[in-house]
Amino acid sequence: MSHTATKVAMHWIGGQWVDSHEHRDSINPATGETIGSYAMGAPEDAQRAIDAATRAFRETDWRTDRALRSRVLIRMAERFEERTDDLVEILGLENGKVHPQGALEVAFAPETLRFNAALALTDVGTNSVVSAGELSMVVRQPVGVAGIIAPWNSPVALGIRSLAPALAAGCTAVMNLPRQTAQTNSLMAEVIGETKGLPPGVANVITGGHVSGDLLVRSPEVPAISFTGSTGTGAQIGAAAADNFKRVGLELGGKTPLLLFPDADLDQALPIVVSALIVFSGQFCMTGSRLLVHEQIAEDVRRDLARLLDAVKVGPAADPESEMGPIISRHDVERIDNVVEDAVSRGAEVIVRGGPITDGPLAAGFFYRPTLLEVSDNSLSIVQDEVFGPVLTMQTFSSEAEAIALANETIYGLSAAVFSRDVDIPLRVALGLEAGSVWVNDWAKLHDQFEEGGFKASGVGRMRGFSVIDDFIEFKHIRLQPGLTPAA
Ligand code: NAD
Repeated sequence: MSHTATKVAMHWIGGQWVDSHEHRDSINPATGETIGSYAMGAPEDAQRAIDAATRAFRETDWRTDRALRSRVLIRMAERFEERTDDLVEILGLENGKVHPQGALEVAFAPETLRFNAALALTDVGTNSVVSAGELSMVVRQPVGVAGIIAPWNSPVALGIRSLAPALAAGCTAVMNLPRQTAQTNSLMAEVIGETKGLPPGVANVITGGHVSGDLLVRSPEVPAISFTGSTGTGAQIGAAAADNFKRVGLELGGKTPLLLFPDADLDQALPIVVSALIVFSGQFCMTGSRLLVHEQIAEDVRRDLARLLDAVKVGPAADPESEMGPIISRHDVERIDNVVEDAVSRGAEVIVRGGPITDGPLAAGFFYRPTLLEVSDNSLSIVQDEVFGPVLTMQTFSSEAEAIALANETIYGLSAAVFSRDVDIPLRVALGLEAGSVWVNDWAKLHDQFEEGGFKASGVGRMRGFSVIDDFIEFKHIRLQPGLTPAA
């Protein structure tokens, strides 16, 4: 069935398009205009999806046939590749992502699906002859229906990041994706639904908010939840899921520090600092939002970074010249600006004010120019709390120990970056940082083979890496005494 033929972006449940009682408008954040409408998921839609996934888990070969799973995941990867242009286009229109950033997001999907197709084949248990004639084995079995909840800022990459290992493990899944990306969700559902050999009900996609998501979290028929979103919501979900003794993976917020040491190559480092701030308009869990600069190079950094940030071309995804797209909603533009105003009133010094674009052709959209504030008080909210917009704070340090202490003085621990040409400093600092990912002279490079996730309030568990599948697996120890004792 064609995506456009559905008119209203609908849920994909049990291999069929399903409507809801309530329809809402999808908005282009670059213009404020309506681009379509969508079915807003309610608890009954989530229940219908859980029922479909439960039936598929019990009645199809999905949970027992790993060769089928691997084949289907590879085909799904091919489908995502074939539909890349459509997915990039809808991410531009609905999510505001400029073309290279949309392409970056979509490219994750086939890679992640292929990696998990391999895991579906290679994921095996262990066994041992524990003593003569006595055999123990651990069999790995899928937990059942997996509930997947992803945020609006990267629905394709993050939805697939959870879906692929769930399916590889033999689980069936219900994805609850956010209303801000309803058109993208529906296109993803179409791509998934077109995958040959995928039994109906194995992968269900609904667009819904916290109400349908909450049903997934509380349902006793959903034993595993893979959640990506804010730390506040993650805490609520973790607490609610505990009532049902669920398996929960939480990928949460961040406040990524970027540490610039005196020997850093600034010509190389500062453009990376700019990217770390403006990719997805600062609406990225790994947004580089805290710049820690050695005092010896602070003056150069202030001057050069101001010049680079002033030159960032902000505009709609439709304009190929745009380097940074809009913020997701007008409400968020106002929220971000209030955070900046509050910081300035508490002593933050403005280096680049940036702010909402209120004149000219972009004024109808939700645009916010990059902002750089210098602060000395690490306890300020602008330093401690996720802004989720293109706002960077700069602080200076005078020693390696001080840099590490400042970087770690936060509840978050998702990621960090260290810039230095020294041989010893980067590794020593990386080992001291409380962060799940640390890049040296780089930022936000992720690979499916390597774990991604957060220390502290940035999360529980890991996505990607060889252990990603464990979130969706039950381990069963079977002890055999099957007459193995050697004949006398
Ligand atoms: P959010 O926590 O508000 O919502 C995330 C998802 O959870 C949405 O789909 C929402 O509908 C759903 N939801 C909200 N309340 C719920 C509840 N009580 N029960 C069940 N579902 C519920 O986050 P957001 O604003 O959509 O996304 C931005 C946040 O996500 C930022 O904090 C960002 O750092 C974080 N994030 C983390 C990662 C990561 O990999 N660590 C990646 C991307 C985004």
